Amino acid sequence: MHHLRDRGPRRQLRGGSGRRGLLGVGTLVAAIAGVLGWRMRGGADPRGDGPVTEPALLAALAAWTPARAATPAGQVLAYLWAAPNTLAGLAVAATCRGSLRRVDGALAVCGARGPLGRMLARRGFSATTLGHVIIARGEPSPALLAHELCHTRQAERLGVAFGPVYLALLTVYGYRRHPMERAARTAAQRASDPGSESGSSARSAAG
Ligand SMILES: [Zn+2]
Repeated sequence: MHHLRDRGPRRQLRGGSGRRGLLGVGTLVAAIAGVLGWRMRGGADPRGDGPVTEPALLAALAAWTPARAATPAGQVLAYLWAAPNTLAGLAVAATCRGSLRRVDGALAVCGARGPLGRMLARRGFSATTLGHVIIARGEPSPALLAHELCHTRQAERLGVAFGPVYLALLTVYGYRRHPMERAARTAAQRASDPGSESGSSARSAAG
């Protein structure tokens, strides 16, 4: 349930499932906070030099661009943990025509056609990612792949909580200020400009 918008403000792709009461999702977010805490690199930036004022946890989430698991065992666990999201992605990908490619442990469907491709185009998105499946309308740039792979890594950590957490934050912050989208934009920015490690405060950029 994530995607890179290439134009058009505050549009978002909404999944049908995974909608729960905000209260329940909020509780879930709080519950995973402890799990996330030790994984987050960079942490919150209390100086607040980003454009958004928000709780430290969310600022940390916006700075969270996890790397691929370093060990084979870790990668197996990551695939298993994200498997529900990936299966959903495969089901969606089956409706798309496009060329398949392996990208850093994920499957990319490039040049996706079909209903999803049309929907992405209508909403102004270049791509969407479910677990280890990236679906792109065109030929994805390195920056776009970095953006989408960041969502894959998020899903590897959050597992089935990814969808509810993503949707809850989307409801509160919208697409532009969504902490997980800001993290993905940071990843994309790093890919397009490897020299800049400016990191944590994901300003606009490629979005
Ligand atoms: Zn995204």
